[in-house]
Amino acid sequence: MTITAEMIPQTDPLQIADRCDQCGAQAFVRVVFRRNKDLLFCGHHYSRHEPALMTSYPYAVVYDERRRINQKPSLSANAD
Ligand SMILES: [Zn+2]
Repeated sequence: MTITAEMIPQTDPLQIADRCDQCGAQAFVRVVFRRNKDLLFCGHHYSRHEPALMTSYPYAVVYDERRRINQKPSLSANAD
């Protein structure tokens, strides 16, 4: 089954404070396994784990924001 944009529930976009669960880099991919159970990945680690994740958890919903990786951070990125 192909997951289309219409099937994906809206969720808050990833923020600069959201960090990869593997390495602590800024997260650009959120993988939701079920309610309140998700993992965050940077682009590097999502690319590395994507095949295994999609094989083991084909029902997981992936919010892939890697298109934003090379965009400038928001003005609030360095606010603290
Ligand atoms: Zn990472």
